[in-house]
Amino acid sequence: MTQRVFILLGMPGVGKGTQAEHLAKACNLFHIDTGHALRSEIALGTELGQTAQNYMSQGQLVPFDLVMQVIKATIERIPSEQAGFLFDGFPRNLQQAEGLNTLLAELNLPITAVLYLETAHDILMDRLAYRVSCGSCGAKYNTRLNPPKTEGVCDACGHTEFVQRADDKPDVIENRLKAYETETSPLIAYYEAKGLMHRVNANQAIDTVFGEIMTEVQPFFEASASV
Ligand code: AMP
Repeated sequence: MTQRVFILLGMPGVGKGTQAEHLAKACNLFHIDTGHALRSEIALGTELGQTAQNYMSQGQLVPFDLVMQVIKATIERIPSEQAGFLFDGFPRNLQQAEGLNTLLAELNLPITAVLYLETAHDILMDRLAYRVSCGSCGAKYNTRLNPPKTEGVCDACGHTEFVQRADDKPDVIENRLKAYETETSPLIAYYEAKGLMHRVNANQAIDTVFGEIMTEVQPFFEASASV
């Protein structure tokens, strides 16, 4: 079966990461999260990570060559039994979109669909500024919008230490939102023109958003089953 290629597009804080995790699990897709991959490089102290950190700490996009290096290394590791790939946080501008087209052409894979999580700008600052994750298992919370059931205790593993991302600080968040407006938002028209765009209202409960994403995605799997 041909592998499916999905792209999750949306502003920082819209919930791409959470939805991507659910979608990857439900549809057996390999989740490619460039932000996470870059943070891993930083944690490992690699040269790539050190360079990327200079940009990430300012809320700016990491240069094209570095991002493509991460993407290529990740794609090479994708097991063939996966039903496809799910890009989360990539592409982030037109240059990366073209870079992805070149890569996919080499693999003889077309983009199946772009899922655009739409929301209003003003709620995102809250989503990002109060976002934390469990220091042990990584479970995600928002101390205002989605706190753990018992304050200060992870629902999933009981750990009591939470961490905040270094770039979830108000001034850096502003820069990330600006980078989205100037660099990433042109991708909406780009993929719309290619007839690949599927819009989902992200300003709803997590489960409702996920249900709508599944409604958009399922036909692509049903089509392959009937072939
Ligand atoms: P994210 O985890 O998706 O919010 O990304 C965190 C940061 O990593 C961004 O603010 C960028 O500095 C960097 N980053 C992640 N993905 C990309 C990408 N595709 N291109 C350039 N920079 C990226």
